[in-house]
Amino acid sequence: MPNAAPAWIDSHCHLDAPEFAADRAAVLARARAAGVGLLVLPAVCAEHFETVRALAHAHGLAYALGIHPLYVDQAADEDLDRLADALARHRDDARLVAVGEIGLDGFVPGLDWARQQRFYAAQLKLAQANALPVILHVRRSADALLAGLRRIDVAGGIAHAFNGSRVQADLFVGLGFRLGFGGTLTFERSLQIRRLASELPEAALVLETDAPDIPPQWLYRTAAQRDGGEQSRNEPAELPRIGAVLAGLRGWSLAETAATTSANARAALPRLVAL
Ligand SMILES: [Zn+2]
Repeated sequence: MPNAAPAWIDSHCHLDAPEFAADRAAVLARARAAGVGLLVLPAVCAEHFETVRALAHAHGLAYALGIHPLYVDQAADEDLDRLADALARHRDDARLVAVGEIGLDGFVPGLDWARQQRFYAAQLKLAQANALPVILHVRRSADALLAGLRRIDVAGGIAHAFNGSRVQADLFVGLGFRLGFGGTLTFERSLQIRRLASELPEAALVLETDAPDIPPQWLYRTAAQRDGGEQSRNEPAELPRIGAVLAGLRGWSLAETAATTSANARAALPRLVAL
């Protein structure tokens, strides 16, 4: 067999973020050179719906449309209509693979929980109406997210940057979801997340960077270092090295890890198959 580089999928990357404004093309070139063949770009607010779509089309990537829970307070109610319109307009766009990033954040203080819940439910209904899977933001919110999924049946998807318990993980998997693992895996103190990544059924695992966020351990900078001007931006080219950590935890080869997690990403977001 030829020694082709394994094709990784970064199932969650915010390539539209301002952190990449200065060197986006170089970031993408490094990802490709590292063997990351496909990226999924989830939008976080209505102002970025066309941005992620344009990036996906310009660079042969995939995108998702949604309003992120941390952006719900600054969003207008009409942004849900803008989402409905965009989903209808791009319904037949092969690069539109999910509704996301949506969900609930129970960690950041001061957010309007009732408003988050309302936006979450409305966006689940839009996913259902458009027969699209969802990409979920989960932070101290797994039970509330699961309750929403039991009320509004969607076509599965990904619980991204998963950080819940094994019981919660199994409940997501039972509802047809895969769980996203990224930079957090690379910290030895992340005992629970590393245990989940080691023990969950292999079909449940997808890889992601969440770049520019969640830098892996080798890019991590303390607050003091950041104040001193050191960067800690994550980028999609880091995915294979994060995958190597997963390979170590599972006892898999690198090629096996790429093949398994990419197949799982395609199962979670079926439109990726054609890209
Ligand atoms: Zn994200």
